[in-house]
Order: sequence, then C-alpha cells, then structure tokens
Amino acid sequence: MSRVYNFCSGPAALPEEVLLKAQKEMLDWHGMGMSVMEMSHRSDEFVSILHSAKARLSRLLNINDDYEILFVQGGASSLFAQIPANLMTGFSSSSYLDTGVWSTKAIKEAGKYGAVSVVASSKGDNYSHVPQFSDWKIDESSAYLHITPNETIGGVEFADLPETNLPIVADLSSTILSRQIDVSRYGMIYAGAQKNVGPAGVVICIVRKDLLSRSQGSLPTTWNFANLAANDSMINTPPTFAIYLADLVFEWLEQRGGVAAMEAINIEKAELLYRTIDESALYSNHVDVASRSRMNIPFILADESLEKAFLEESEAAGLKTLAGHRSVGGMRASIYNAMPIEGVQALVDFMKSFEKRYG
Ligand SMILES: *Cc1c(COP(=O)(O)O)cnc(C)c1O
Repeated sequence: MSRVYNFCSGPAALPEEVLLKAQKEMLDWHGMGMSVMEMSHRSDEFVSILHSAKARLSRLLNINDDYEILFVQGGASSLFAQIPANLMTGFSSSSYLDTGVWSTKAIKEAGKYGAVSVVASSKGDNYSHVPQFSDWKIDESSAYLHITPNETIGGVEFADLPETNLPIVADLSSTILSRQIDVSRYGMIYAGAQKNVGPAGVVICIVRKDLLSRSQGSLPTTWNFANLAANDSMINTPPTFAIYLADLVFEWLEQRGGVAAMEAINIEKAELLYRTIDESALYSNHVDVASRSRMNIPFILADESLEKAFLEESEAAGLKTLAGHRSVGGMRASIYNAMPIEGVQALVDFMKSFEKRYG
C-alpha cells in the first residue's frame, strides 16, 4: 500500500494516525463488539464520544462557558441559511463582508431572510485582497456581522477582527484549528468538518449562549440552534461516525501540541510553497502578500498550455488533486493540518524539477 500526498480542498487528507486508529477500532470499539457506526446514538458509549469531542475542542480553542458547541448537519452551505434564520430575529438586516466565492454564497442565502448590507467587497480587484478595516461600512443596527476569514477557492485569509458591537459570525470551514484565535471575540463560529477536522457530514458550530434566545419556535426543529443546544446536538440522529472521527482528530491535535504547535508548522509549510512560487518564473499567485492564505494556495503557470502536463506528472509523482477549483482553473494546493511538511517539500521539489524541464 502506498499513500499519496492529497492536496484536495475538501474532503481533504486526514492524519494517517487517525485513520489507523479508526481502522483498529472499526470492528470492535473499546470492547463493545461493534463499530461506532452501528451504535445507538443514545448509548452511553456514543454520548461519551460526543462529550469527548466537545471537551477536546473546548481545550484546543480555549472555549469558555459562555459558548455552546453544536454538531450540525447539512454542510456549511446549509448554515448559510440557518444562520440568518436563527439570528435575525428582531432585526431587519444583516451585515456581510464580501471576500470571494464563499462569502458571496452566504450573502445570497442571507438575502432570503432580509436585507443584507455588504460592509465592503474586494470583487472589484478579482478578490485578490481583504478590504482594509477603514473601508468597512458596518451597519451597527444589523443583526450580526458575517465574515469568511479564509476563502478556500480564492486563497485569501485574514485573522484580525474589526471593532464592532455586532456579534461577529465567522465561517472558519477551511481555517479552524490551523491558527490560534480568541473565541471570546466571536458571536458564532462554524466550520464544515471536511477540510480541517474530519469527514464530511458534520458542521462544528460554536455559538455564544446569549444569541440562542434569538432562535424562534417557528423555525424548522432541526435548524433551531437553541433546540440543538438543549438536546446536546441530538434532536435526531447525529452524524455519529463523523463526530467520532472529529474526536480522533482533536485527540491527534492535542498529542501534537495543540493549535499553537500546528500554527507554527502551518506557517512553515505556507512559506515554503509561497517562496517557491515567488522565486519562480513559471508559477505565480495573484493574491496580495498580506492577504495570502496559509491553507489554500492557488497558483497559475505562465504558460497555460503546460497545465495538462503539470497535472499529469504531479499525479504520477503521488501528488494528487492539484487542479484549481472548476470556477477559476489553474492549480491549488490545500495544505491543512493533516498535510505534513514532507508533503509540501515533495510538491516544491516537483515544481522546481518541472520548471527546469519545461520553463
Ligand atoms: C467548503 C466551504 C463551504 C461549503 O461547505 P459544504 O459543507 O460543502 O457546504 C463553505 N465555506 C467555506 C469557507 C468553505 O471552504
């Protein structure tokens, strides 16, 4: 068996240690004589897994008692609708920052629930930078401010938060647990698991408890954040296997020194790849240096006709899924927590050798 380096943006590579542990526990989880997939979600054993996942995530991100952790289904895209549906109660508008494809989709869904005030947009320069705070026009009377701190397709990332009295709602799907954050500065954080946490099927939500009072009884039962919180994310059957895998990934992160240690490695990985791109005549990345993502690194080839050869040869070298998103083309390397630095080094070595041969 040989494992490749998988640069897919999501579902993405998982840590090998986690896959091996899941394999070991597959037929007989902790002497239960069955796999986690086959257990009742109401069993003490599964509830212990769910509580372990919550406790580990709380430790990893330093989440205090003002927050609830929810496991929600439907993907981050469903949250685009669930968030305005829950949080707009008593307000006529919501505020959104537009930094690319994913914020645009979130804005479109929010528009179905009320007026959306776009505080700033980088659409005019093809989403190659994050607008300066001084250019954000935040409507302080709106329900919340939504941001997308890492645009997975455009490769644009930012970490600082603006000064505002609004609860900040952040889509951290492709950046959660990759860098340190101060959770207490957010009203709500959500992240589809399939990028940096585990398999598809669950969205990690961290919601400040005072916001739960906005969730109205008229909402669909399974969409209601207050209801999910009151029922330990088990109004109905939760995605049990995805939550179990997330718990194993959280355990793996704790064993490796937590988020601070991951962040240091992630900085090193991103610098290695950007340096290779910047020093080359063949490859380029169009994002402003200050707004470059550490997780998703798009790049193009000066000669587009070489793309096919690049993809075929990289694939043959065990470097998989480097094609850019279908909407933008080019290449993209997603280098989440589970991508070891050896994988980035292998990619960089390949890129240099390719450039020597074709450049
Ligand atoms: C992948 C992604 C989504 C969509 O996730 P789904 O689970 O497929 O709905 C939303 N936001 C960001 C930032 C993403 O990277």
